[in-house]
Amino acid sequence: MSLRSAKPSELFSRHPLFQGDASTGAIRRTDGARVAPFSGELLHALHVALIENSAEFAQDALYHSGYEWALQEMIQVNTRLQSKSTGSKLPIWQTETAVALELWWSGFADAGWGTCSFDFSAFAPDKGFMLAEVKNSALAAALVGAEQPMCHLYAGLFAGALSFRQRAERHAVELQCAALGHPSCVFLVGQGETIDRAEGWRQQGVATVEIVRQLR
Ligand SMILES: [Zn+2]
Repeated sequence: MSLRSAKPSELFSRHPLFQGDASTGAIRRTDGARVAPFSGELLHALHVALIENSAEFAQDALYHSGYEWALQEMIQVNTRLQSKSTGSKLPIWQTETAVALELWWSGFADAGWGTCSFDFSAFAPDKGFMLAEVKNSALAAALVGAEQPMCHLYAGLFAGALSFRQRAERHAVELQCAALGHPSCVFLVGQGETIDRAEGWRQQGVATVEIVRQLR
């Protein structure tokens, strides 16, 4: 069966993480959530179309889409944490932040959004910040050669996830991006004032390690 001639439901019928439903044409995760396949070309075209409208609009739209997406996924994670299968039965607010976020990101990793490692060494429940390093960002791969960090959707995802976990408004900024040739994408997530300072330094060309050192 060639990929071009196959229906999506056939492509995913034997996939361990996704199930095709021939009767509806839907592709679903093992938890029942519906998903859609996106090619790198489509991600590229989506960004170009948004940026042609306005770069600022594109950044805001992608960031807020990621933010809202993260909230919806966190609701699912909360349900899974309290299900019988995990044995935890604790709400997400009583689960260690690292455990909650790693469980949350596992769904994105399975879907091809890249692997992520979290650094909580400068993190505190009511202050500080955390770092998220993404390798193999799908957006960076689709937008390689850019002149600015491009993973606004990811920044919104991390801001939304930490906001949900802490039940307080949190923000995020991408300090370095693989689309510019860096080995990975690195995001700083924390309170708005911290993120604004970091973004100001990034725009002045300060390296990620120096920004983090200044904020600690
Ligand atoms: Zn990036």
